[in-house]
Amino acid sequence: MDPLKALADAERKPYWLDNPARPEPQPRLDQHTSADLVVVGGGFSGLWTALMAKERDPSLDVVLLEGRRIGWAATGRNGGFCMATLTHGLANGLERWPDEIDRLERMGVENLDEIERTLERHDIDCSFERTGELHVATEPWQLDGLNEHLDLISELGLDYVPLDQEQVRGEIDSPTYLGGLWERSGCAMLDPARLAWGLREACLRLGVRVHERSPVRSLRDDGTMITLHTPYGSVTAPKVALGTGVFPPLLRRLKHFVVPVYDYALMTEPLTDAQLAQVGWRNRQGVGDSANRFHYYRLTDDNRILWGGYDAVYYNGGLVKPEYDQRDETFVKLAGHFYDTFPQLAEVRFTHRWGGVIDTCSRFSAFYGQAHGGRLVYATGYTGMGVGATRFGANVMLDLLSGERTERTELRMVQEKPIPFPPEPVRSGVIQVTRWSIAQADQHQGKRNLWLRALDRMGLGFDS
Ligand SMILES: Cc1cc2nc3c(=O)[nH]c(=O)nc-3n(C[C@H](O)[C@H](O)[C@H](O)COP(=O)(O)OP(=O)(O)OC[C@H]3O[C@@H](n4cnc5c(N)ncnc54)[C@H](O)[C@@H]3O)c2cc1C
Repeated sequence: MDPLKALADAERKPYWLDNPARPEPQPRLDQHTSADLVVVGGGFSGLWTALMAKERDPSLDVVLLEGRRIGWAATGRNGGFCMATLTHGLANGLERWPDEIDRLERMGVENLDEIERTLERHDIDCSFERTGELHVATEPWQLDGLNEHLDLISELGLDYVPLDQEQVRGEIDSPTYLGGLWERSGCAMLDPARLAWGLREACLRLGVRVHERSPVRSLRDDGTMITLHTPYGSVTAPKVALGTGVFPPLLRRLKHFVVPVYDYALMTEPLTDAQLAQVGWRNRQGVGDSANRFHYYRLTDDNRILWGGYDAVYYNGGLVKPEYDQRDETFVKLAGHFYDTFPQLAEVRFTHRWGGVIDTCSRFSAFYGQAHGGRLVYATGYTGMGVGATRFGANVMLDLLSGERTERTELRMVQEKPIPFPPEPVRSGVIQVTRWSIAQADQHQGKRNLWLRALDRMGLGFDS
């Protein structure tokens, strides 16, 4: 189908948030109050932090402040790939922390197991399906990349199955596939908005005071207590955790380390049984192709296909703006790629199109830290892979606040910071040259130009 026609009736809003089950917001903070811990941000980072703070110590008085609605930002707009990796994939982790990769992989799997147990414990229904992720190669050079770490994968005991062309097409039938690698238990598919709302419910049940539409505008530290001001109220506490993603940070230093990168997605109408049978997909894996500019896609519980990725857009100046949530040029491109991948679905139309902003840092995986004499902690920089990893980051923040040394806080990954981005306008120039070079690499059998090789040597990069 012509992409323009296929998109004609697609709503301009995130599919997951367009759900009658979306709960009414909790009341604004409209007075002065005090608490033992204030969590800022009602995405996955903040929700996990508040929930686990209460699970660690039920007597703790916890306030969560969200500027808009719970889960409205990246948390309610993502692909719903809940991955074990804490390092934005094995290759990135291995490159940066080879000496601790076995621990990082183990801790990532434990984190995903714990997420699954939390859903059971708090009775959260978010269509969690631990189907794994199928990494597919659509160009010969991508096959080499997939096979590169097979020895290490078996050494680490990871549950990956290499698939040749026939086998991968036996799983999911696309004429574009040349081979694949099925990471079988390291990834689950879920409905991210229903997870966020379920975590909110669990927080409320444990006694967390949740205030939505309560943006924190300023922060004052008197040496022992921190006071956070919202437009209609304030809260004072000895401890603060920031889970504010890529939004203008309350801690100025963070703006050097994270940049807003926009990522876009489409949702199809539900496939009929006959349409689904033409694709196969009996094992319902999430799929990612192996280009630098990659697509990610998956089935929903009612057999729609979420189709996203490819363009990772940095708007010069580095601002977060509502108008950037829509990008027709990208939607048309994505729709075209969808039909190239699944020509048998030529009659399928799209019902939703949306974008969201990603907290990209130069090492692609989250970083953590403390300020104000250890009274304030933060975790950000998940670079498009935070659905699962935010729970680990929340645990790191709670460890740091408690002052305890744990296996997590001893990690080099936790102690080190990414290389900062240069200030604007140099930042925009550097990022756009990098984006251009990445696109060139995809068109030239993955060959990285001088610029990308120089960045690789410095341990710097750009991704979504
Ligand atoms: C299109 C898209 C697809 C993605 N796909 C995947 C995927 O499949 N798998 C995966 O692992 N990751 C994916 N991601 C990334 C993932 O969604 C994020 O890593 C994760 O949701 C980050 O959660 P967060 O809580 O840190 O940030 P956010 O969800 O951005 O939440 C931050 C919250 O803080 C609030 N806030 C900020 N400042 C203040 C303030 N001053 N006062 C009060 N509140 C404040 C904001 O309003 C916001 O609600 C995707 C992201 C996008 C955009």
